[in-house]
Amino acid sequence: MTIGNDTALVLFSGGQDSTTCLGWALERFARVETVGFHYGQRHAVELDVRPRLREGIAALKPAWRDRLGEDHMIALDALAALSETALTRDTAIVFAENGLPNTFVPARNLIFFTFAGALAFRRGARHIVAGMCETDYSGYPDCRDDTVKAMQVALSLGLDRRLTIHTPLMWVDKAGTFAMARDIAGQAFLDLIVEQTHTCYLGDRSHRHPWGYGCGACPACELRAQGYAKFRADSPA
Ligand code: ZN
Repeated sequence: MTIGNDTALVLFSGGQDSTTCLGWALERFARVETVGFHYGQRHAVELDVRPRLREGIAALKPAWRDRLGEDHMIALDALAALSETALTRDTAIVFAENGLPNTFVPARNLIFFTFAGALAFRRGARHIVAGMCETDYSGYPDCRDDTVKAMQVALSLGLDRRLTIHTPLMWVDKAGTFAMARDIAGQAFLDLIVEQTHTCYLGDRSHRHPWGYGCGACPACELRAQGYAKFRADSPA
């Protein structure tokens, strides 16, 4: 099912979720462009894996190669200056009293969506696809479905153009996200995601686990490891 001749812009970090969303979008839209944000992440590993992932994805299906358009990188230095968090400072990841990990950059996704909206407008894209998820989320309030829907309304009004934000993973857990990748484009897409995507908060690419690379101990690795184990238990290879 493709949605006419529409263009979609995918928020693409190089992680498992956004890579799955990119495959989801490539099945649905005539043209798919990607956008990444650089904001002084302590580890730029996620951003390093993006070009390789895009190449791998384009090689999976001729239709995907035809549909995959430009990649855009937006530098958000101001966001790095604003945040006092573990992702952008050399401090340990801990959970604050409000239950949020200190990796949380306040309002980060609102800022991403605003820039993505401006870019979508300039590129003639009527759809934004993003990997926000309420199921496994670490308490990030800007990943909530209501936040995203409010953003869609704000952008559509502010741009005076209907813009739809799709979040195909909103109600899917990590195991379901692995299963979705396999359902979208088979074992080759799943293999690419396991091997090439990166989610570890510590930027570890030296330890290989059944679920991919990472330190194995940070909250992002734990979530990915548990999700993969559940996925494998639900559907043995
Ligand atoms: Zn890790």
